[in-house]
Amino acid sequence: MDVRITVETSSETGEKRTEELLHLNLADKCHSHLGLRLEQAKALLVQLQGSILRHQMEEISAASRTCPCCGRTRPVHDYRTRVLDTLFGRFRLRVLRRRKCSCRLGEGDALSPFAQVLRDRATPDLRMLQAELGARHSFREAARILETFLPCARQHNTTVRNRLDIVAKDITDAKPPVSKTLSSQPLTVFIDGAHIRCRPEYQKRHLDVVVGKIETHDMCRRFGLAPQAATSSSNQLRRDLDALGWDGRRPVTVISDGEAALPNLIRGATKGKIRHILDWWHISMRVQHVQNAIKGLVQRKDFPGTTALLMTPVETLRWNLWHGEIQVAATHLQWLIVDCARLAKFETAFRDQAQKALARCHDLYSYLANNLGSLVDYGRRYRRGLPISTSRAEGCVDDIANARMSKRSRMRWSPRGAHNVAVTRAAVLDGRLSVSNHRIAA
Ligand SMILES: [Zn+2]
Repeated sequence: MDVRITVETSSETGEKRTEELLHLNLADKCHSHLGLRLEQAKALLVQLQGSILRHQMEEISAASRTCPCCGRTRPVHDYRTRVLDTLFGRFRLRVLRRRKCSCRLGEGDALSPFAQVLRDRATPDLRMLQAELGARHSFREAARILETFLPCARQHNTTVRNRLDIVAKDITDAKPPVSKTLSSQPLTVFIDGAHIRCRPEYQKRHLDVVVGKIETHDMCRRFGLAPQAATSSSNQLRRDLDALGWDGRRPVTVISDGEAALPNLIRGATKGKIRHILDWWHISMRVQHVQNAIKGLVQRKDFPGTTALLMTPVETLRWNLWHGEIQVAATHLQWLIVDCARLAKFETAFRDQAQKALARCHDLYSYLANNLGSLVDYGRRYRRGLPISTSRAEGCVDDIANARMSKRSRMRWSPRGAHNVAVTRAAVLDGRLSVSNHRIAA
């Protein structure tokens, strides 16, 4: 079968043109394949893109020569050759530069109607797709995927990385729409940190990436940043809060695992208007460690003390912390510390077990003491359906940091590179980076 593909264009002035694009010979005596092959489709797309670009350039160039003030035709200064990378091939374009009209500022300055479009030498949809694939896969893999499915020019991992950097900057700079209505819903920020491998020239093994999620009752937004590389972490987080309609006055609830630097980031973004809550899971895990150590101690055959003296405070520890009875829990914990310290002094076989229990009790006590202002009545929050743990933030650690930058992938990162990937990946997962309408939603 012979297939001839022609393209017919009609310009705004009514001029119609027909151009033969491609002649395909689909003769296949063995009937081993039906329809277009990938290579034929790619060739067709390149031809079609070239034809459309040529006609668009001619039309825009002709229209730009007419002066909007006096209607006269402005003179051509020269033609320059520019290279444009698109999803469907790389094209060398003959770009017109015209002079200013004599009716305005006089002759002389050469102006190109394509200066804005050809700024980055790549179309926005190619840039977006490179950024999206670069955020999902390694840069080399992203380049390979693009080359496999599209007739674009040969892709390099460094090109993909550079384009992702441009898109990450656009995402960071994107301002939330002014008309957005301020929400009266409470805002909750789940925040956590991830450690990724750092490149050797930065003289340290690991790099911190902060990730998390901001939620209202019906909306959520992920964020990721490397504080070491972010121009202003506070401004970036503030923009994320604004995008969800934060009114700038209501306190924002922050749930974290007790690392002081994390709520401080939100504190900086909101100028102190936060209410910090310690993650229940981290408390519960430490209570469990205390329980296991004490149980191990009292179940020994040579245990000399009264079992109930140690077991009663341990068993009520979790209940008291869950219901916000912090003073009672602290008192019980102090009893345990005194008892374990006494047992740890004996020169007996259970001494090691007693020392272990003592260390666990000290660990829980200092954890609670360091976060005293962040302990709440978790039971009441839970019954009201309010969040009490950072599980959503931990999901973000997996989705944003570990999926792309985990230690297992053996990649090493610079702070700037990690920051850009975290920012782009959060936008990709939220669906804020739209290749179809090539724009970044704020
Ligand atoms: Zn004029």
